[in-house]
Amino acid sequence: MKETYAVLPGQTQTVSLDDWDPNDTLVNKKTAAKAMHSYLKRMVQLQELLYATGQYALLVVLQGMDTSGKDGTIKKVFPSVNPQGINIVSFKVPTAQELSHDFLWRIHRQTPAKGSITIFNRSQYEDVLVPVVHNLIDGETCESRYHQITQFEDMLVRNNTIILKFFLHISRDEQKKRLMKRLNKPDKHWKLSMADLRERKRWPDYIHAYEMALSACSSEAAPWFIIPANKRWYRNYVIAGIIVETLAALGLKYPEASEDFSNITIED
Ligand code: AMP
Ligand code: MG
Repeated sequence: MKETYAVLPGQTQTVSLDDWDPNDTLVNKKTAAKAMHSYLKRMVQLQELLYATGQYALLVVLQGMDTSGKDGTIKKVFPSVNPQGINIVSFKVPTAQELSHDFLWRIHRQTPAKGSITIFNRSQYEDVLVPVVHNLIDGETCESRYHQITQFEDMLVRNNTIILKFFLHISRDEQKKRLMKRLNKPDKHWKLSMADLRERKRWPDYIHAYEMALSACSSEAAPWFIIPANKRWYRNYVIAGIIVETLAALGLKYPEASEDFSNITIED
């Protein structure tokens, strides 16, 4: 699954999101549901191993347009892992304090400790999306940020943080459907803002900014995956599959006991 949806590092052409079908499905819903069941069970075991061995950290980055399913992914892909080993961080419009530092400052403080998993709901990539679309930074500054992000991620990887970055790819029509649904349901209005509706008008600019960032910042160490996300069940299945595949490939083993417990009996 990893190869199917990974952006190849160092590719000479810029990613064109038109070439990636947001409706793509390689299995049917029933097969995905069965696989999902075993992925979720496996994820619990793998997370425990990650915690017990304390050698590696896992950072999952979720990016995508409004309504692309970042919150839904968190709910559906990580429902059963031990809450002690997982941290979820949502990045909002930077505060005055955050803006008084470099753009990676607020990010670095939230990266996972060894043994744990952190999920970024939005991330360092917001700083090469929003300011680009709104012309707040020039091309040179943006290129420099791509470079800083790549270097930063490389540093994390060299310090045993595994990084998986998922772009949740939905179509413009699908976003319209989802926004309409939110509009029509008063109990979903809290999720909606006028800003979301305004930003939708800039859809092509966001797509372009994403294409540039996905092309510039996909590396062997910290790959981007473009996840077909029009169908929620398929999105969850692919992301869970990639996480399980990545953690399993570490080949972690439970640590040896620090003492010999073989002849111990528990007294009454
Ligand atoms: P939500 O994820 O729906 O809670 O919305 C968070 C909002 O914060 C989105 O509109 C993001 O684009 C915005 N945001 C997050 N990080 C940044 C950033 N670095 N610069 C500008 N806007 C940001
Ligand atoms: Mg929102």
